Amino acid sequence: MTKYIFVTGGVSSSLGKGIISASLAKLLQARGFSVTIQKFDPYINVDPGTLNPYEHGECYVTDDGAETDLDLGHYERFLNVPTSQANNVTTGRIYQTVINKERAGDYLGKTVQIVPHVTDEIKRRFCLLGKTKDYEIIISEIGGTVGDIESLPYVEAMRQMRWELGATNCMVIHLTFIPYLNAAKELKTKPTQHSVKTLLSYGVQPDILVCRTEHPLRLSIRKKLALFCNVDLESVIEAMDADTIYDVPLLMLKEKLDITVLKKFQLDSKQEPDLTEWKTFLGKLKNPLREVSIALVGKYNELPDAYKSIHESFVHAGAVNECKVNVEAIHSEQITHENVRELLKNMDGVLIAPGFGERGIEGKIIAIRYVREQKIPFFGICLGMQCAVVEFARNVLQLDDAASIEVDSLTPYPVINMMEEQKNITQIGGTMRLGAYECELEPDSHAQQAYGSKTIYERHRHRYEFNDHYKKQFSAEGLVATGINPKTGLVEIIELKDHPWFVGVQFHPELKSTVENPHPLFVHFLKAIMAIGSE
Ligand code: GLN
Repeated sequence: MTKYIFVTGGVSSSLGKGIISASLAKLLQARGFSVTIQKFDPYINVDPGTLNPYEHGECYVTDDGAETDLDLGHYERFLNVPTSQANNVTTGRIYQTVINKERAGDYLGKTVQIVPHVTDEIKRRFCLLGKTKDYEIIISEIGGTVGDIESLPYVEAMRQMRWELGATNCMVIHLTFIPYLNAAKELKTKPTQHSVKTLLSYGVQPDILVCRTEHPLRLSIRKKLALFCNVDLESVIEAMDADTIYDVPLLMLKEKLDITVLKKFQLDSKQEPDLTEWKTFLGKLKNPLREVSIALVGKYNELPDAYKSIHESFVHAGAVNECKVNVEAIHSEQITHENVRELLKNMDGVLIAPGFGERGIEGKIIAIRYVREQKIPFFGICLGMQCAVVEFARNVLQLDDAASIEVDSLTPYPVINMMEEQKNITQIGGTMRLGAYECELEPDSHAQQAYGSKTIYERHRHRYEFNDHYKKQFSAEGLVATGINPKTGLVEIIELKDHPWFVGVQFHPELKSTVENPHPLFVHFLKAIMAIGSE
């Protein structure tokens, strides 16, 4: 029988429920259990695909084309197993299902209510992954903070599950914050006591407390937390701030979070935790032999979470190359012909970020011209690739005013165009080219050297495409298509000849980089940069 762990948050948002959930899952996986994590988001959007990155950071896309919360990226990066649409559920999706059922007459004349109809639908979703796949343990992260109005139905559904399944099959882990008052030189437990009381008022007694803190929790504090929050002493887990998120599984191992969980579930560990690869990665991450600087040119730079997966991909690729990667965020709106040299002169490589809309486009194009002419390694992702195509069209092919039709629908040279099937779409949500598509690589291209195989599958999230009509013109001047979708003929990768490394990809490689499988394009981008540095 599948066992269920719920992770709630208290006192404050942004405590890292996603990282704690992923770290616990990693430890259980390392002990031989099959485990997955799902995220429940209490907002009304059906999925985060329609959210501006400033709201919730990056939108993470799964193989099956779901637009999801960025925490799913952490789950994949830690566990090295793909997630899917079922791993992320929002209130919008829950209500949509309930309302559709009501319209279909499925409730047989009953008054449809939050309890039991919405809570039943939440419970059905809690258990869905357990029904489709053979998971021994399912961790469900409940978004938001306990006490929020919108998360109440989730807390009630969780309470019911805990009551129905009992302590050996279901548990609640409450992630909380222990503030340090500098004036009193003391850690304070009161906010946590209040947060647990709020949970208790909903009928939920947490089984384990994971306590975020900037200072170690002395025994006296642990005892106080245990006594006033009604948990055993060994269920008070310290979660100290870490240098890197990748330290957290080891911190949780030290605190015996995994052992405490298994004990409560009356499960025997199947093996001693096998974290060999993880520790090798950490060793390399912390002892780099080299250092490089890469400009990340984007327009959402105020919020690093907007490019979460790109940052993490550089961490993974840096570790394999034993190289510290300093990612310098450069705002595309600030780049001009006059300052581009100054802004990029100390950069060993430049990555142009994905994005939507007109803002910041011209700055990206100016940066690309500079790195193309100066032969600085370049990596363009999605919009970044499209901008490289536009730059080349304007400045090499002399197609004045060439553009993507996303930015200029009247351009005389629509080098980035919209696919026929996209033209009649009026709804914004969930209608882009989404999810994994096949791509075949040209022999001897940078891409083929990086992947070491002919066929790859990468995840997409975009509406516009390279316009085939111009393909010959581009390749005659040296910008060649080195990755093609074999079913549709769409151009997925472009590369520039006579340049150390100039690669643009229509897909999102950053979504598939994990600790155990750093993404080959990121790894090779770094290798190209390091090769230049050591010439
Ligand atoms: N805005 C572009 C498109 O829709 C690129 C999208 C992206 O970078 N993810 O095609």
